[in-house]
Amino acid sequence: MQKITVAKGDGIGPEIMDATLKIIIAAGAQIEIEEIEVGEQVYLAGNTAGIARESWDVIRRNKVFLKAPITTPQGGGYKSLNVTTRKFLGLYSNVRPCMSLHPFVKTKHPQMDIVIVRENEEDLYAGIEHQQTDEVVQCLKLISRPGCEKIVRYAFEYARQYKRKKVTCFTKDNIMKQTDGLFHKVFDEIAVEYPEIENEHWIIDIGAAKMADTPEVFDVLVMPNLYGDVLSDVAAQIAGSVGLAGSANIGSECAMFEAIHGSAPRRAGQNLANPSGLLQGAIMMLNHIGQTEVAEKVQNAWLKTIEDGTHTYDIYKEGTSKLKVGTSEFADAVIANLGQKPTVLKPVTYAKTTLKLPEYKRKAPSKKELVGVDVFVHHPTTDPNEVAALLLQLEMENKVILSMITNRGIKVWPDGFEETFCTDHWRCRFKPVQGKQLAKDAIAHLLLNAHKLGIDTIKTENLYEFNGIPAFSLGQGQ
Ligand code: NAD
Repeated sequence: MQKITVAKGDGIGPEIMDATLKIIIAAGAQIEIEEIEVGEQVYLAGNTAGIARESWDVIRRNKVFLKAPITTPQGGGYKSLNVTTRKFLGLYSNVRPCMSLHPFVKTKHPQMDIVIVRENEEDLYAGIEHQQTDEVVQCLKLISRPGCEKIVRYAFEYARQYKRKKVTCFTKDNIMKQTDGLFHKVFDEIAVEYPEIENEHWIIDIGAAKMADTPEVFDVLVMPNLYGDVLSDVAAQIAGSVGLAGSANIGSECAMFEAIHGSAPRRAGQNLANPSGLLQGAIMMLNHIGQTEVAEKVQNAWLKTIEDGTHTYDIYKEGTSKLKVGTSEFADAVIANLGQKPTVLKPVTYAKTTLKLPEYKRKAPSKKELVGVDVFVHHPTTDPNEVAALLLQLEMENKVILSMITNRGIKVWPDGFEETFCTDHWRCRFKPVQGKQLAKDAIAHLLLNAHKLGIDTIKTENLYEFNGIPAFSLGQGQ
């Protein structure tokens, strides 16, 4: 018996949760339910997180959380419970299978059967943003080696577990050589540990276009957070079935399972909603807790029900569908099909083992050398020469050389183009005069002198070499 935490959520949440639980219990799921309240009522009671402290204790104790969609009230100050849950509980992996159910559910891609594995904790979603000048704001894109290793390994282990043939990585490392470059590098390192699984890398733009056009050439896809957020919605939509997709959020301790859609408040309380998305989440949960036979039984009965043409309003189509049903009737139809298999759609068989991932092991530290510094300056001019003249005054006293100025990444000094548009945000790169190492205190002196000269420095970034390899981007055009 596995104890699980259940939140029935808002809008259509309670109806689809009741239907889902009824189905999996009828199929023989060995679960003990502990219910908590999250969402709208909790928010409106003044808790901006949408969840009470005691509920966190329940989730952490049970480790497995089945969550119906919630309504986030309009207006400022309410924090997304999904984002908080993922980050608090270290749910680093978001898994979203997107499969078409042709010819029973309308889709342009009858052969589509992909799984998007999205990194869930870092990238631009670290949420570290600052306004730095009148004209420029920034968002830090953080990519870590443990983050990459965990998600890439998860994708390959998932492929192995579910007998998938290929893992494809999407990044934009032709532009972001450090961040996306690390993701791609780790992908290549880990791929060799899985020789039986094909692997490939696509630049995200053309990869996304290919996925939207010919999704059947892909199998498992792994990618950083932002790309995964966007493309997993695209994938669910083009499979023809946003209302049919579930998702799993997996961490090394805890896991959360849900539908991908929201609380559809206008459909609430009318026995109309399709419970399939949450049921798909519940099936992933059953696999996660090792109740694979029950998962298999439910999935096959669900496929059979779709194939029978027993459809809720959202997928009902004259000609293809046979019977329009409500939420609870749909659940009853799936229950009546338990033990049966689909004949047109492919029945599933799940491996009788659960997915186990090794602990992340930190590597020995590299030799790290400080070889320069980028000083970011706020200056209202649009003329790079004016900024250069000001900053060149810092050279002699500090034993550093101003080697380059860029504006939004493009080199504008020396030898910039007059045509280049400049904002008030300047990156000024200093290198040491002698040798290639820079003393840390030289940066402090540089900033102090800049302050004395009235230069508005907004931040610095140290330039390092790791094991002798420069680990920073050049100026564009440098
Ligand atoms: P939504 O997914 O709730 O609804 C979009 C459309 O799809 C609506 O027309 C709706 O009727 C339909 N739909 C969704 N699920 C359905 C189902 N199971 N059966 C039949 N039709 C279904 O998106 P929205 O309207 O943008 O958001 C409504 C609320 O849900 C908002 O408060 C939003 O913040 C919240 N939301 C919650 C989650 C979550 O908890 N995971 C995710 C997304 C949105």
